[in-house]
Amino acid sequence: MTKMSNLKPTNDFSNISFKYVCPECGCNQWYFLKQLQLDGFKDICDVCNNIFEPDAIDTIEIVYKDKPSKAEVVEAVQQEGLNTITLEACKNTLKTFGYDDKFIEDMITKSFEQIQENDASALIKYALENFGG
Ligand SMILES: [Zn+2]
Repeated sequence: MTKMSNLKPTNDFSNISFKYVCPECGCNQWYFLKQLQLDGFKDICDVCNNIFEPDAIDTIEIVYKDKPSKAEVVEAVQQEGLNTITLEACKNTLKTFGYDDKFIEDMITKSFEQIQENDASALIKYALENFGG
């Protein structure tokens, strides 16, 4: 079985119907798009015999539900990632152990991949236990 995501309907909207309210008697009338697309389409109210002359419809457009834009997705990923403040805190602490910036950044990044928390002390502990040496 193939998963079909983002499946869209055909552009055959002819059987979509629209509700109209008779201005004379207030009853409901339903017309298909294919009727409403006819020039000069008219109908007579079943209840009061008022003549309906709906505005002809050219086309209708489907508006799909908003998906987050690419920029928003990127931002969300960055927010969930290792933040700069945490990384700086780790650098300041680990420098005292004699590691250089590049090495610290590398091991903190790897630690973050495991811990998934912007918690400097947890990251430092993990980094020292697993990558320090
Ligand atoms: Zn009517």
